[in-house]
Amino acid sequence: MNQYTEIVIVGGGISGLAAAYYLERTARKQGLTIHTTIVEKEAQLGGKIATQRQDGFVFEGGPESFVTRKPEAWELCQELGLQERLVGTTSSGKNYVLRHGRPAIVPSGPGSFLATPLLSPGGKLRLLKEPFVKPRSETSDESLGSFLRRRLGDEMVDNIVKPAIGSVYLGDVDEMSVQVSFGRFAEMEQQHGSVVKGMVALMKEKSAARKASGEPRPAKKPAFATLQGGLIELVNTLAERIQGEILRGTAVTTLEHNPAQTKPYALMLSSGRMLRADVVVLATPTFVMADLLDGVVETAVIEQLRAIPYNPVTTVNVAFNRRDIADPFDGFGVVVPESESSQLLAIEGMSAKFPHRAPDDQFVLRAFVGGQNQPDLAELPDNELIDLVRRELATIFDITAEPTQVHIQRWLPANPQPPVGHLAMVAQVERTLARQLPMLYLTGAGLRGQGIPDCIRQSRDVVAHILADLQPTAVHA
Ligand SMILES: Cc1cc2nc3c(=O)[nH]c(=O)nc-3n(C[C@H](O)[C@H](O)[C@H](O)COP(=O)(O)OP(=O)(O)OC[C@H]3O[C@@H](n4cnc5c(N)ncnc54)[C@H](O)[C@@H]3O)c2cc1C
Repeated sequence: MNQYTEIVIVGGGISGLAAAYYLERTARKQGLTIHTTIVEKEAQLGGKIATQRQDGFVFEGGPESFVTRKPEAWELCQELGLQERLVGTTSSGKNYVLRHGRPAIVPSGPGSFLATPLLSPGGKLRLLKEPFVKPRSETSDESLGSFLRRRLGDEMVDNIVKPAIGSVYLGDVDEMSVQVSFGRFAEMEQQHGSVVKGMVALMKEKSAARKASGEPRPAKKPAFATLQGGLIELVNTLAERIQGEILRGTAVTTLEHNPAQTKPYALMLSSGRMLRADVVVLATPTFVMADLLDGVVETAVIEQLRAIPYNPVTTVNVAFNRRDIADPFDGFGVVVPESESSQLLAIEGMSAKFPHRAPDDQFVLRAFVGGQNQPDLAELPDNELIDLVRRELATIFDITAEPTQVHIQRWLPANPQPPVGHLAMVAQVERTLARQLPMLYLTGAGLRGQGIPDCIRQSRDVVAHILADLQPTAVHA
């Protein structure tokens, strides 16, 4: 008889892989005998992490780096021995907003804020009032747009923040939850009355804690980091370390729960095989979770998971010979406000941000097409998409040269756009699941934050829950 606790993880993106890795590592430490199986629909692991290396280029079709302010991805890379492979940004980078068809630099300090053409004198004055704006009395969720409009004024939101956030979340700041995307700022308002005051207090706290501990100031981390060979290195290294089974090119088609069975979960696979499990972790987009749980849990849960909106995006990496370009764009990116006529959501300076991504004589830009307002553009045929991107690059940067490489990656759909009240809804879904489907857990970008560090953090949290729930019944080595 199989003495192992069988754990099946559905989805081999960063959330599923991190869940398997931390499960095995923590179970080993606790002397528990578990066996993990990851089931991944696609032939490649990584989900949205999609690096393609060719001819000396590192093209990223999905995420291209992660923030280090949220430490989980940085820590995981260190723990996996990838420290020598990490590459940080050398500066916090120049960021731009499209204004009258041309990139205008986003101010990064008080001096440049006073000089920027992106805000009128009234808009700048409104920004300076932030520390004196009364905090909201309620603590319930609100939209990110509503939060930022109250704190910083409409101009700052419409001209700078909305396009910047929109290009990341592919949605509208006036619809998405502040608790999911910028929960820390909402907490600062509640605790300190203002975001500026909250940030000052945080810096003082950190400095006092450091002085009290007597520890030297830690080495400064870069704001963003990636890996030499692309983010797929993190995926491949995790896959190498995971000792359980990894089934690639195999979808879970149905899930059944029968509490009378010793192993109460049965998962049917597209290969025809059936897996039995004590524990199931769903690490897929939330609409796939809804499909798998349909008929297994109460309908309200299915409707709630299905209601989380996702928007499509297609990324187009375009490389040029440096010598063909008079003035290569030196910024990390340009975001496009709704008021502009451009059909792009954003353009990223892929080789300006990380020069190792292209041979020295080459220069790479990446265009984002689609999103909430122009979803159909993400589905244009390749030739029309390339024409569109080249037209836009000619208008915005005067680039008319023939590309040396083009790399297209479609995400239909791509990122979740968590609406107001999202976290409360997720907590409610999890309470119902704990009652009706014990030992089944959810993790992933659609739940509590979609950045790579958010996904890793959620999977770490889920692992802690699983092992706590397993302790009374688990088999010890
Ligand atoms: C264009 C783009 C750019 C981004 N840029 C950044 C960035 O620079 N930095 C950053 O931190 N984040 C970025 N993100 C967000 C981040 O990449 C994702 O949120 C994160 O990778 C999602 O990981 P996940 O494992 O939760 O989900 P996914 O990566 O979606 O993985 C889910 C997996 O489940 C599999 N699956 C689905 N159905 C089944 C089934 N029935 N059976 C088995 N398997 C199934 C899928 O094939 C997939 O592999 C970006 C996202 C996109 C789309």
